[in-house]
Amino acid sequence: MTIEANGQKCRCGNRGCWELYASEKALLDKTDDQNLHVLEEKAKKGDAEVLQRLHDIGVNIGIGLVTIINTFNPEKIIIGNRLARFEPWLNNGIHRSLDQRLPTQNRQSTSVIYSRLGHYSCAKGTASFAIHHFLHEHRVFM
Ligand SMILES: [Zn+2]
Repeated sequence: MTIEANGQKCRCGNRGCWELYASEKALLDKTDDQNLHVLEEKAKKGDAEVLQRLHDIGVNIGIGLVTIINTFNPEKIIIGNRLARFEPWLNNGIHRSLDQRLPTQNRQSTSVIYSRLGHYSCAKGTASFAIHHFLHEHRVFM
C-alpha cells in the first residue's frame, strides 16, 4: 500500500510503500541500533531521538490504518509481532493520524489494540483462525 507518492524506492518495485515508513524495518533503518531490545530500553529511559522515531512510526502506521479502515471498516485492528511491545510510544502517533484523517463514524466503529502474543503473533492468530474454522466446518468436537 502506497502512503508516499514520491517516496523511497521499495524492494517490491513500487515507491513509498507503507512498510518503508511503518514497520520494524523502518524503525531500525534510521537508527544506529540494529536491535529492537536496545531501542526499547532507550525508549524506557526517555531517549528523545528514539521517542521521536517511535512517534513518527506511529503516525505512519496510523496513516496506513486510515486506508484499511475506510476500505474494510473492521471492528478491530490488532497491532502484532514485535512492534506491539512499543505500544506506549506508538499509540499517540497512531491515534493522532486516526483522529485527524478518519470520518467520525469510522473512527468510532474501529478499535486498535496490541497483541500480547509477542513475536509471530500474526502467524499464531492466523493459525488459530484456520483451526477454529476447520473444526467448526467439520463439526469436530473435543
Ligand atoms: Zn513495496
